[in-house]
Amino acid sequence: MQLPNTVTICEVGPRDGLQNEKVSFSVEQKIELIERSVEAGAKIIEIGSFVHPKAIPQMADTDEVCQRMHRVDGVEYRALVMNMRGLERAEAAGIRKAKLTASASRAHSLSNMKRTPEEVVQGFGECAEYAAAHGMELSGAISTSFGCPFDGKPVPLEQVFSVVNCFRKIGVTELSLSDTTGMANPQQVFDYVNAAKIRFPDVKWVLHFHNTRGMGLPNILSGMLAGVDCFDACFAGLGGCPFAPGASGNIATEDAVHMLEEMGVETGYDLGRVIALGKYVQEIIGHDTGSFILKAGRCSDIAINKN
Ligand code: ZN
Repeated sequence: MQLPNTVTICEVGPRDGLQNEKVSFSVEQKIELIERSVEAGAKIIEIGSFVHPKAIPQMADTDEVCQRMHRVDGVEYRALVMNMRGLERAEAAGIRKAKLTASASRAHSLSNMKRTPEEVVQGFGECAEYAAAHGMELSGAISTSFGCPFDGKPVPLEQVFSVVNCFRKIGVTELSLSDTTGMANPQQVFDYVNAAKIRFPDVKWVLHFHNTRGMGLPNILSGMLAGVDCFDACFAGLGGCPFAPGASGNIATEDAVHMLEEMGVETGYDLGRVIALGKYVQEIIGHDTGSFILKAGRCSDIAINKN
């Protein structure tokens, strides 16, 4: 099996994980989770979002988190923004990389944003100009890229490509295909990524999977076989599915790092620290999560016990 030698796991817990939890985290706790993730080896970390506090109250203090967190050289601290106001806040908080998000599904986009996916991305045009003028980098995330409860499954590849094209037109060439609802399967991931790489050779692809139906890790492997080397994951596997209350969320960082290490793929993480962080996160939120390694331990733990 031909796999990349190294894979980058982007830690999205401080944003995608925490925003789905009922427990509210203090600024100090958020900073601690960000700093511990970086100490554990995260080279890219999504620290929060700059959106309207009424829309996502858990992210209202992202400005303060940015101002107070300790930053390490060489680490990419990125934040999600939805519009110019958010981008300006991110810039003022010293964030150099912002992520813009649109949906691949027309019906999902019309329901959520009252605009088609193409209109949403075209609306980011002024964000792209602002970012260029202020030396900021942008990436794009395309949610429901593989399946959507509104449009049915799968979302047609041409529809995904139409949104990709809109992002490219405004100059955004790092794109994440997101499976927000956990509907992607490994065959589909392989086919979609291969087709996308052929059609858009200038794009850097990132994949964002949820483990809602147990297909998250196989989807990472499938993405790697198709040549992708950058994936999102979340400490302890927090984050749910908007259409399946109680379903498990993002792939746990410790599960992804463990699988990659077992296969001899470098991630740059210290697995022991990642596991300790996942346990700590579970203690704070006070409930079980979708993480396998936090339940079962690593393969090497069992081997050591038997000796
Ligand atoms: Zn997610």
